[in-house]
Amino acid sequence: MADSCLFCMIVSGEIKGTIVFRDDQATAFRDINPVAPTHILIVPNKHIESVSVLESADEQLIGHLFSVAGQLAKSEGIAEGGYRLITNTGPDAGQTVFHIHVHLIGGQMMRHPMG
Ligand code: AMP
Ligand code: ZN
Repeated sequence: MADSCLFCMIVSGEIKGTIVFRDDQATAFRDINPVAPTHILIVPNKHIESVSVLESADEQLIGHLFSVAGQLAKSEGIAEGGYRLITNTGPDAGQTVFHIHVHLIGGQMMRHPMG
């Protein structure tokens, strides 16, 4: 756990989140400022700052985040309609919390273009 990392504190329970999934590798909770009817953040329990610092040893873990996202899309009832998975990386992308996360966003028609 990294000191003063918001998402580490949600994973550890130090800060309350609306947790919708948890296992030994990952935790998912509802975004505090949702941009769509479903907006969930899927994070590794281990602190990793961003995609930029990923190591080859993290590949299974990152794949697991996508697998959890797919399961949650089903349980949220948005799998058939479709959804977006977004991982902002660095300042130009607007990353504000430097603990890697996948946004699962759905339940409405998405706007284009991205970017
Ligand atoms: P990003 O801008 O990609 O780094 O995404 C960070 C996300 O974390 C934003 O969508 C915020 O709304 C969300 N967020 C910030 N604080 C909390 C919190 N305490 N609980 C849940 N989500 C949060
Ligand atoms: Zn962290």
